[in-house]
Amino acid sequence: MSLSVTVSDKSAQRLKEFAQGNETFQKTYFKKNEAELLNLVQEGQNPRALFIGCSDSRVIPDLIVQTRPGDLFVVRNVGNFVAPYKPDEDFHSTAAAIEYAVGVLKVSEIIICGHSHCGAIEALYNPTCEMSMIHTAKWLTLGEKAKSMALLALGNGVAKETLLRATEHLSIVTQIENLLTYPYVKKMVEEETLFIHGWYYDIETGAIEYYDPDMYQFRPLSELGDAQSPI
Ligand SMILES: [Zn+2]
Repeated sequence: MSLSVTVSDKSAQRLKEFAQGNETFQKTYFKKNEAELLNLVQEGQNPRALFIGCSDSRVIPDLIVQTRPGDLFVVRNVGNFVAPYKPDEDFHSTAAAIEYAVGVLKVSEIIICGHSHCGAIEALYNPTCEMSMIHTAKWLTLGEKAKSMALLALGNGVAKETLLRATEHLSIVTQIENLLTYPYVKKMVEEETLFIHGWYYDIETGAIEYYDPDMYQFRPLSELGDAQSPI
């Protein structure tokens, strides 16, 4: 199959910026950390956690927790959703990442990180998908449970932003529930060899909250120091 690409002036400019960025990266960060980066090639990766985040360009996992190459195994999708376990022969990208992280890389932590001003959550209330966007429309149904929980708790009369923030938080809890439908995840969580964390990133402040399942509330991650209560 041949792929014909027409590069417009605008596109060429963007590519130039990316190329310059890569050049700068190689000359600065890569050069400075070359030994560490080459060690990751020789030893292989041994990430500390699987990070399930939103594809949103403003939520960059390694930036918001200041982690380094090799620290996080990342899967990002629209809305940081986790589809319930479905052992069929279809293509399941997020499920494959979970399987690989747990089964091969042996991560002991899974972080599901939602965020404020999430377009996926907003789309639940203002559908913008055209009929042809069948994959997006289907994928967004994974947020419906959080939407109905938020509406049930707050009602329709509440300010839109309040409803959206509540839905964003509730979605993290429902995605954790979905993650626990994976039999090997549930088993390892029960055996306390795997720990699931629900995080909420506020893009207006840069702060992260974590879900405290004992208190049924989100609390500042900064309170934890280095000992987060696992689920
Ligand atoms: Zn988002």
